[in-house]
Amino acid sequence: MATMEQPLKSENDKKLYRSLRLDNGLKVLLIHDPDRNHGRIAQASLCESMASVSCSEEEEATDNELMEEEEEEEDTDALEFDKDLDEEQSHKMKDKGKSDAEKLAAAALSIRVGGFQDPEDLPGFSHFLEHMVFMGSEKYKSENEFDDFVTTHGGNSNAHTACEETVFVFDVLPKYFEGALDRFAQFFISPLLLKDSMERELRAVDSEFEMAVPSDSVRKEQILQSIVPPGHPVGKFMWGNSKSIYIANDPDGSILNQRLNEYRQKYYLANRMNLVLQSRHTLDELEEIVRKIFSAVPSGPEPPGLDYSHLPPPFDVPEYNKIYKVAPVKDLNEVELRWALPTLLAHYK
Ligand SMILES: [Zn+2]
Repeated sequence: MATMEQPLKSENDKKLYRSLRLDNGLKVLLIHDPDRNHGRIAQASLCESMASVSCSEEEEATDNELMEEEEEEEDTDALEFDKDLDEEQSHKMKDKGKSDAEKLAAAALSIRVGGFQDPEDLPGFSHFLEHMVFMGSEKYKSENEFDDFVTTHGGNSNAHTACEETVFVFDVLPKYFEGALDRFAQFFISPLLLKDSMERELRAVDSEFEMAVPSDSVRKEQILQSIVPPGHPVGKFMWGNSKSIYIANDPDGSILNQRLNEYRQKYYLANRMNLVLQSRHTLDELEEIVRKIFSAVPSGPEPPGLDYSHLPPPFDVPEYNKIYKVAPVKDLNEVELRWALPTLLAHYK
């Protein structure tokens, strides 16, 4: 295990940080948060921290804009936060956290795989896999073991699939952090990915797509995606639905299941993941927990074909320089001007 360059922080920042890399290549940022007061800001502040682990998070966000909602008034950003709980349930959990008057511990794990990597014949496959890893593991076989554990203990969990990354997040009362992490880590160590669970999760993916269909901002993005040069990953249909995630002559789903396992083994590798933990645990305690639990995540060679820098800019096409009149679903009138910028990755720092 190697210690990495430690993050810079403000003098006013009372948190303590430690970044390290496990032997399997997993990059980890540990945050000791001395604040014991309640408040549901753990996940939010964690998102800021993700950028500290690796600037790639922030870089990829530029590409990810394509898939992201831009208007606050839209609430069907299904692909972004797809394990959405209904409002009522979510409030209940928030109240639960508050009544315990205790700040929650939180974790986020990102993997460098997303819609861009979807196989040509299975659009939305990355999103489907994101759903499937929740469905039980060798160690915790029950389908909703993790979600049940987290929600029973004052927390919440979610995940999203973007163009080039998949992110899983949760928070929970600190006392149960280790137990939740052990269940969480199994998504990446030994998920069952059972054939029997596939149909249910396909339905979930399908219903998220159906929810996105009437979203004006999603529709506008889809128009943009439709004008990129053929074969460009930006043009992919990354939501997925029951029509796109389908293999002919595979009545019992065996082939789809095999593909799912192969896909996971190819991309869900420790050396392609970043993990951030934040809790009132000391840094030493967090380090011990993370080493004990996450060292078992398999690592492997970097999959080929993930460098898109040779591709032409997706919007350097005549179709981009046009006015499009889009009939909205909602009752709204708006003008939107768009510029395609060159990549700014090299200037991130
Ligand atoms: Zn989803």
